[in-house]
Amino acid sequence: MDKRTFLKTSALLTATALWTPDSLLATETQVVSPFTLPKLAYNYADLEPHIDAMTMEIHHSKHHQTYITKLNEAIKDTKYEKESIEKILAMVDVKESAIRNNAGGHYNHSLFWKLLTPKSMAPTGKLLASMQSTYTNLDNFKELFGKEALARFGSGWVWLLIDQQQNLSIVSTPNQDNPLMTTIYKEFVGKKPLLCLDVWEHAYYLKYQNKRADYIKAFWNLVNWEEVAKNM
Ligand code: MN
Repeated sequence: MDKRTFLKTSALLTATALWTPDSLLATETQVVSPFTLPKLAYNYADLEPHIDAMTMEIHHSKHHQTYITKLNEAIKDTKYEKESIEKILAMVDVKESAIRNNAGGHYNHSLFWKLLTPKSMAPTGKLLASMQSTYTNLDNFKELFGKEALARFGSGWVWLLIDQQQNLSIVSTPNQDNPLMTTIYKEFVGKKPLLCLDVWEHAYYLKYQNKRADYIKAFWNLVNWEEVAKNM
């Protein structure tokens, strides 16, 4: 990268970071379209036995890639073409379903991969204190998050959010919707995601079939709490 490109990219990153959650920017190589598939920090088999290698491979290289391909197609020659993924999500309207579904799919999966690790260590510090203050203890938080994940009918995502007063909340969204879609969901203005879980069947069906509860339980063995803390 030459100096001019570097300065331009830095300015763009700084401008974006001022008004949007910046959790994706650290590893996202493409700030604007065409978006590309982010590399994982682990191998597909590394999350075994909790999430199997075949599920990871299909989920990342097929499902996530398809959202990216369709997103790039959907925003080509539109006002969204030169916007960051976070800005696209904030702007997208209920009527723009191709952009809504595929921008959501790209953002959600990019965040989710970073929140998984084969070397999960217990949360500490400010994050743990915050969860204890809201949910009494970590086990109770996991139970409430798990209940929300089980209650999400059909396909969707479960989220731990934080607002500007540092209050935590657990919510779920249908399909590939997410809390950054503040044109569609006014209730998410000023909140950003710390943690998310994909509860689409494609995320667990090969290993767990209809047993979503077992997949949710297994997820707790893989949470990258350091990454969750960074999102604060
Ligand atoms: Mn998925």
